[in-house]
Amino acid sequence: MTKENTKSLELLERRKNIVANGVGVFNTATVMDAKGAMIIDADGNELIDFAGGIGVVNAGHCPEPVVAAIREQAGKYLHTSFNVVTYEPYIELCEELAEILPHGEKTKVMLVSTGAEAVENAIKIARQATKRPAVLCYTGAYHGRTMMAMTLTSKIGYKSGCGPFAPEVYRLPFPDFYHYRGLKSMAAFVKDELKRLHESALNLVDVKNVAAIILEPIQGEGGFTPIPKKYLLGLRAFCDEHGIMLIMDEVQSGFCRTGHWASWQHYGVQPDISTYAKSMGSGLPIAAVVGRAEVMDAAASGTIGGTYIGSPVCCAAALATIKYMKAIDLNQKAKKVGSTILGRLKKIKKVCPEIGDVRGIGAMIAVEFVKDNDPSQPDTETCSKIVDGCSDNGLIMLNAGIHKNIIRILCPLVITPQQLDKGLTILENEIMKAYNKS
Ligand code: PMP
Repeated sequence: MTKENTKSLELLERRKNIVANGVGVFNTATVMDAKGAMIIDADGNELIDFAGGIGVVNAGHCPEPVVAAIREQAGKYLHTSFNVVTYEPYIELCEELAEILPHGEKTKVMLVSTGAEAVENAIKIARQATKRPAVLCYTGAYHGRTMMAMTLTSKIGYKSGCGPFAPEVYRLPFPDFYHYRGLKSMAAFVKDELKRLHESALNLVDVKNVAAIILEPIQGEGGFTPIPKKYLLGLRAFCDEHGIMLIMDEVQSGFCRTGHWASWQHYGVQPDISTYAKSMGSGLPIAAVVGRAEVMDAAASGTIGGTYIGSPVCCAAALATIKYMKAIDLNQKAKKVGSTILGRLKKIKKVCPEIGDVRGIGAMIAVEFVKDNDPSQPDTETCSKIVDGCSDNGLIMLNAGIHKNIIRILCPLVITPQQLDKGLTILENEIMKAYNKS
C-alpha cells in the first residue's frame, strides 16, 4: 500500500453501519476503478485481483468491446420483458450458447439473471421432463441462496436458520480423492465410489422417483475439487440407466475458466441440462439454462420465465463477452495462465511441504492448508493469515471450503505475465512467511 486508506476506511465504516450483517465480507478492498486484472481502490492504490469478482471477470474488468456493446444497447431500449415483446439480443445469445455448448442433437436455452435462478429453473425443467419429484445433490456442493438452491447447497454456514428447506432433496457423497487420503489407487477409489453411488442412491430414495442429479464437475465454493473422470462417466451411465436428468452446474467453472466453455467439455461427458452465469456477462447479471431441446421443451408455458429474464443490456454484454473471448482465444489463455500458476504453486509446495494440496484444472486452481499433512485437519488459521497478508500487500485473494482453509485463484484470464508474476510472488512470500521460511 502506498497511500493513506482514508476513503476505503470510511466506506468500510459506512458499510458496517448500514449493510445487513448477513452479507458476508471476504476482505477489506474497496473499488473506484477496474481494468483488466487490476482494481484501483477508493484511495488510488493499485490492487492485483486474484478473486475476479468470484469468477465473474474471466475476460477482465471492463473489456472495451463489452462496455461499448452495453452503451450501444442502452441507447436503443432497456426493457420490454422478453415474455411480452421479443428482442433480437436474447435470441442471438441463445443461438450463440447453443453453438458453443451443444447438448445432444438439438439444444435449447433459457435466460435468467443469476446462478441460483438458473439452478432453480434447471430443477423445474428436469421435474417436468421426467414427471418425478426427487433431486440428488452432493456433499460439498454450492448452488446458490434461493430456497431450492440453498437446499441443494451443502455447507451449513450458508443456510443455518433459513429452513425449512425444499422437500425431496437427497445428498450423495462427493468422490473427493484428496480427502479420501489415498489409501487406495484412484481406479480402486472410483470403483468403490460408483458402487457407493448405486447403493446410496437406492437406499436414499426409490430411483424411479428421481428427476435429476445435480453436481458441479469441479466444486467451486467447496474448494475446487474436481470429480474423477471415470466417476463422471459412471454417473452418466447411471442416469441413462434410470432415466434421470444429469444437471451440471457450471456457474463457477464455465466460460473459459478451465480452458473450455464448460468444464464438462474437459471431461467429454455431456449433461442433459447445464447452468451458467458469472463470467458470461462480464459483470452484468445474466445466466442461462442450456439443455437438450426435448428436455427444455418439457417445461409448460408460464412455468419458467420472469420480468427481467435476459435483459437486453445484459444480453448485449454477454454476446460481446463471448465474441471477445473467441477473438482473444481466452480458452487458450486460461490453459497458459493455469499452467504458470500450477507450476509456481507446486514449486512452493516443495519448499513448504506443510501445504496440504495444490490442485486444479485449467486456471481453476486451489491451495489447501491442513495440519500435520492430514486432509481431515483443516488449517483455517494459516489460510486466513495468508489471505490477509496478501490483502495488505495489494493482492485480492479468496478462500473456499467448508472450513475456509483453501485459497482459490480466480484471476482474470487476461492478466499480463508481469501482473501474474507479481501476484504469485506476493502469494508465495505470504505462504513462506506463514511457515517461517525465508
Ligand atoms: N452455482 C455455483 C457453482 C456457484 O459457484 C454459484 C455462485 N458462487 C451459484 C450457483 C450461485 O450463483 P449466484 O450467486 O449468481 O446466484
